[in-house]
Amino acid sequence: MKYISIHELNKTYRAKGCADVPALKGVSFDLPEKGMVFILGKSGCGKSTLLNVLGGLDSFDGGDVLVNGKSMKDFSAKELDAYRNGSVGFVFQENNLLDEYTVERNVGLAIELQSEKGGGDLVAAALKNVDLDGFGDRKCNRLSGGQKQRVAIARAIVKEPEMLLCDEPTGSLDSDTGEEIFNLLKKISESTLVVVVSHDRESADKFGDRVIELKNGQVISDSAHVEVKPAESQPEAQKKHGGLPAKRAFGIGAGFLIARPVRLALCVIICLITFTCVGVSDSFASYNREKAIADNLVKYETPYYIFVQTSARDLEKLGESFSYTKSTFNETGYERLKTLVKCNRYDKVYNFSLNSTFGGSSYHIEELRDNRNQTLFFHGVTELDENFVSDYGFTLYGEYPQSYDEIVIPDYMFEGFKTYGYKPKDGTLQAISSYDDIIGKTLSHENRDGYLTFKVVGVLDTNVNKKIYDRVMFKEYDANKYDAIGMANNAMTRYGLQSVMFTVKGFYRDYFVPDLMGEEYRETDSCIASVISPITGGKKAMVEAARIHERYHSELPNEIDHRYNYFMLTGDAQEIVDYKDDTMELCKTIFFYTALGTSVVSALFVLYYVSGVVTEKKREIGILRAIGASKGDIFKIFAAQNGIFAAGLIALATVFSAVADVIINSHLTKGYVAKALFLSFSIRQFAVLAAVAILAVAVGIIIPVVKMLMAKPVDIISGRK
Ligand code: ADP
Ligand code: MG
Repeated sequence: MKYISIHELNKTYRAKGCADVPALKGVSFDLPEKGMVFILGKSGCGKSTLLNVLGGLDSFDGGDVLVNGKSMKDFSAKELDAYRNGSVGFVFQENNLLDEYTVERNVGLAIELQSEKGGGDLVAAALKNVDLDGFGDRKCNRLSGGQKQRVAIARAIVKEPEMLLCDEPTGSLDSDTGEEIFNLLKKISESTLVVVVSHDRESADKFGDRVIELKNGQVISDSAHVEVKPAESQPEAQKKHGGLPAKRAFGIGAGFLIARPVRLALCVIICLITFTCVGVSDSFASYNREKAIADNLVKYETPYYIFVQTSARDLEKLGESFSYTKSTFNETGYERLKTLVKCNRYDKVYNFSLNSTFGGSSYHIEELRDNRNQTLFFHGVTELDENFVSDYGFTLYGEYPQSYDEIVIPDYMFEGFKTYGYKPKDGTLQAISSYDDIIGKTLSHENRDGYLTFKVVGVLDTNVNKKIYDRVMFKEYDANKYDAIGMANNAMTRYGLQSVMFTVKGFYRDYFVPDLMGEEYRETDSCIASVISPITGGKKAMVEAARIHERYHSELPNEIDHRYNYFMLTGDAQEIVDYKDDTMELCKTIFFYTALGTSVVSALFVLYYVSGVVTEKKREIGILRAIGASKGDIFKIFAAQNGIFAAGLIALATVFSAVADVIINSHLTKGYVAKALFLSFSIRQFAVLAAVAILAVAVGIIIPVVKMLMAKPVDIISGRK
């Protein structure tokens, strides 16, 4: 049995809107194992068609091609790849080299497509065979036509094919160079079958062992010089096709990527702009008040939670809009809060006044009377127990109070005395510089019967973040300067522990209320200005605490009032966030659509770029296919090329978006002493960026590659598809 047997081969080109072109009409002949066979004929007689069919680059309509007895029609796609890759070597008229690669890499690629190791020696041997010793490092676009054709021959023979198919290999060379090439092919034909397509009868007669002449798609003569030797042993139909190793695919892909660095850089710059817009927009779109409060609890080192009760009147029912006012807790509210937020402990700040809302109930300190201002007063009472200091992580200088007339003052209050001095009733101003200076002094409150006096027995360091509040501490209200930090400071002093007096247990109900309001108020429901709890349990617990905004009892019986009660977190973090909350909520909505829009624009741009760079490598794909690259190999190369692009883009866009978030944050809090966190780059933004990039790249590769792979290799090479 012969190696290749062609039997009644028919091929007609059919194209929509064109007349059918019968290119091969019943061509039959057998090919020997070796020798130089010329297929001679005029242009358009079907030579190339025949060669392409023989080499597995094109299909046929009728008849058959038997390869070692197996019909080509029965080849699977994989077998066909392996046949092209292992059994056949192609040499085209246009040498079809990868011009940007060196001679060595062009030749080596053929070996690599078989994932064979030790290609180096084979490449060197092949180059020696074609007299290109020492040309390995030359770039192909620096070679002469004859040299290029010899590289193409080296590439074709390096994998030691059983058959070398050459389509007008000297067609674009001068006659002397053409002669050289024919001599080279003749040498190769001593051990391998070389089929040469040509219209040059002289060369065919001179070099051919056998000349088959075609005319109008039919064999009109066959010299059959060469004795047809049957194959001694039946060789395997196809060599193994291992596929391009990943490392090589990566190398080729990377080479494709950086082939046009300026365009790549421009594309990356444009992508970075649009992707950063996506990242930042999504940071806005995912703004969450509770999370922002939790972030700022951490950032501001807020020492404890402060819960207050908000009262909302549904004035809609009265034909007006909803209004909120902070109010005081009663015991019912306090118990309800404890079931809603899980904290280690809860401490009440009692209001000095029983029947007013919070604002009007502060007590000025007589000993600061010369320097009274908005922020220095006792606004409430907190009763200490033995674990209070350690549970909050505070530090107590001095002693716990032991009786109703002993108090501990917060460090914030001490700072006030340090600033203004201590002026005893009917005495002269004294400087206060250390805790010891204020401990032992007496503070007095005016009440309806005259004065209540307390002895300071200690100072409690409540971890006030003085670094942040220094600018607004004890300062007169100035609307121009009174930004979010001023409001934060206000919240901390009015609702937190910065302006409370710390007393013994039972002080408020058993001593203060009866004394202040009279015995008849002893049983009254206590007025709790705020509830304080230590911050524990991490970010998640903070978000939970910030989320407290629950109606806890329904409408009061009073039909006219329509009052609802809610809890909320207050303090610096909350004030800072709420200062910009309306803006952020508006941005959130707007930027959701911006994120969506910029994502689409980014994806389309990436898609455009990627499908462009893939499509422009059409010729390379054709060459790779012709020398045996499988569809998988082609995908691997483009996946590598654009995978690197996508990975780089995602990494850069992540950095840019995160930095942009920081810049926007600092812009949002321009003029604040301390910066606040509104935007944060989180895993969600990363996921959005990655999804947009990966999706666009994948579609950008798949569509053009699939389109090209559906075409026959011959059509890709010739640029028809
Ligand atoms: P040769 O190589 O001998 O010059 P070809 O095999 O290239 O001839 O072409 C044989 C005939 O088929 C010619 O008439 C040519 O115009 C036609 N032909 C070749 N390729 C195509 C194609 N892709 N579509 C339609 N007609 C084709
Ligand atoms: Mg041709």
